[in-house]
Amino acid sequence: MQEKQLGNRNSYSKTDPDATFMRMKEDHMLNGQLKPGYNWQISTENQYILGYTIHQTANDTNTLQSHMESLKENLGQLPGILIADAGYGSVENYEYLEKNNVETFVKYQYFHKEQSNKWKADPYRTDNLPYDQDSDSYTCPMGKKINFVQEKVRITDNGFRLLNRIYQAQNCGRCPVRESCNKSRGNRRIEINPRLNYYKSIIKKQLCSERGIKYRRQRPADVEAVFGMIKGNRNYRRFLLRGLEKVEIEAGLLSLAHNLGKLANKN
Ligand code: SF4
Repeated sequence: MQEKQLGNRNSYSKTDPDATFMRMKEDHMLNGQLKPGYNWQISTENQYILGYTIHQTANDTNTLQSHMESLKENLGQLPGILIADAGYGSVENYEYLEKNNVETFVKYQYFHKEQSNKWKADPYRTDNLPYDQDSDSYTCPMGKKINFVQEKVRITDNGFRLLNRIYQAQNCGRCPVRESCNKSRGNRRIEINPRLNYYKSIIKKQLCSERGIKYRRQRPADVEAVFGMIKGNRNYRRFLLRGLEKVEIEAGLLSLAHNLGKLANKN
C-alpha cells in the first residue's frame, strides 16, 4: 500500500500523501528543512501565464517535457521559442526540443561559470583538456594521453538512455601536479557525454547571440516576476488544499486570477 502511494518518489507526506518532501527556498526555521510540497511549473509571456503543471518531484529537469506536452494540448501547438534557466538544461530536454523544432535558449549547468577567466584558464578542467578525434583521447596537463576505456549507460527518471564515455589516464601516481589534477586515489578518470557537449556548443552560441542576451535579460522579469507577484504581492505562500487533483485546480484558479488581474490593470 505504502509502495503504491510512493510510486517512483522517495518520500511522501502522511498529512497529504500526494505531496513530496522537497527542500524549500522559503524556510522559516532557516535550517534547510525538507517540507511536503508540489513543484508548480508555469510558462509565461509578457507576465501572463500561458500554462501550468503540478509535479511531484523537486527536480525541474524532469518536469520540462510533460509541461511542454501540457502546453501543446492547451494551446494546440508548442511554443516556437523556449527560454529557461539551467535547471532545465539536459540532454534529454535538448533532444526533445530539437525534435519538436522549438528554438532553444535553455541554459546548461555552469553556463555562467565557464565564461569566467578563472574557468577558462584552469588547465585541469575536463572542458579545457585538448581532445584528439583520430585517437579518441584527451591530453592531460602533463602531456599524457587519457584514453577511452568504456561506455556507461544511465537511464534517467523519465526513461531516457544516457550514454557516457569514460576515459582514463595512466601512471598518475607520481605526477607532480596530482594534487591539483586528480582527487581520486587511482588514475584520473573523466566522464564525457558527447551528446551533451554537442548541444552545449549549439546552445552556447544561441545564448551568447544578440537575441540570446536579450532573452536572458527578459526571463527573470517575465516568469520570476509572476511568482513574485503571486507569492510576494498577494502573499500566497502555500496551497490551501491537499491532494494532487485539488492542488491542480487551486493552481489553475490562481493562474486565472493572476491573468485577469493583469488584464484589468492594463485597461
Ligand atoms: S594527475 Fe594524471 S592526468 Fe593529471 S596531469 Fe598528472 S598524469 Fe596527467
